[in-house]
This record gives sequence, structure tokens and C-alpha cells, in this order.
Amino acid sequence: MKLICIGRNYADHIEELKNERPDEPVVFIKPDSAILPRDQDFYIPEFSIDVHYEVEVLVKIKKVGKHIDQKFAHTYYDEIGLGIDFTARDLQSKLKEKGLPWEKAKGFDGAAVIGKWLPKSEFKDLNSLEFLLTKNGNEVQKGNTKLMIWKIDEIIAHVSQFFMLKKGDILFTGTPSGVGKIVPNDYLAGVLEGHEMFSVSVR
Ligand code: ZN
Repeated sequence: MKLICIGRNYADHIEELKNERPDEPVVFIKPDSAILPRDQDFYIPEFSIDVHYEVEVLVKIKKVGKHIDQKFAHTYYDEIGLGIDFTARDLQSKLKEKGLPWEKAKGFDGAAVIGKWLPKSEFKDLNSLEFLLTKNGNEVQKGNTKLMIWKIDEIIAHVSQFFMLKKGDILFTGTPSGVGKIVPNDYLAGVLEGHEMFSVSVR
């Protein structure tokens, strides 16, 4: 399975990183080896001194599909989650400067935290989901899917033109502003519409 991730999907986060607003979704992939096993601590890799958290709403794909029409996209998922796209920001900046792919900065072991899953029927409107991340008990990121530039169904229509979606694939839908650095002994926790979705300790 693969993790398909969207970059620059919230205008406030584009501004904080001084990125250009893209005219189509920025897409990258993390390998399945990037998934942090449940209940395991996250170890800051030795190649970075500036790993950032990015809290993101997740969508689990339930059947195979390609060239999916936006109006049928909702039939490709039943479960919604919350996770972290850990990013070695120092390494990513170097790679970006040289116009090189971001994989090393985004796809390293443990760089994808995947919390629990909830049925989408649990929510009234997927385009208005409030979510937040706390670090050591303090809120550091807060977002709402209504602020996404590309909504879930648009993302599915777009990425399935390039990558066949398979059962079990997971979409990372982008992060709002407030990203920041972690240090050993930090404790991160994610909440989606009042549901505690994950927690992770940093080592
Ligand atoms: Zn991200």
C-alpha cells in the first residue's frame, strides 16, 4: 500500500512557509515503511535537527480505482482518520533549493503517524471537520477541512489520474498553519471533532 500526500492545501500554511500557491495539488508519496507502528515512540532521525509535525486529516481508500470522476469519489472511502506527516524540514529545504525530490525528508522510517479510523457516517459534513494537535498539552495546530484548497473528492479525482488507488491506500490531505519543531520527550496528541485519534511520544 502507499501513502499519497498533498502539500500546500491550506492557504495559511502556504504563507507560513513562504511557498507559492500552486495551481494544481502538490502530490508526493511515502512508502509503507514510513508508517510508525501503533503505540511506538517516534525517534528523531540522526540526519535532521529540525523535524516538524504536520497534523493532517486522513482518508482510507476502500477499493481499486483510476481516473475516478469527482462525483463518484465518495464511493471510494468509508473511513476518516487523523495523523502526522513528520517532515525533516532542514533536509526538505535543501532538496527544494536544488529542485530535488522530497522523499528523504518525508518518507523516512516512522515519518507517518496514523491514528484510529472512524466511519465517515460519524460526521455530518466531511468538508467541515475541525481538528487539532497538542504538544505537551498545549494546542499548536488547529484546522478545519472547510479551509482546504482541494477537498477530499477533488484530491481523489486528481491523484487517481496519475496513481491507481488500491484498497488500503491512505491519503494525507495537507496541514494547516502552526507546524513546528519537535524535541525529545515531546508528547503529541491529535483530536478530530472531539475524538482523540492518536498520541505519540518523541525520543
Ligand atoms: Zn504534509
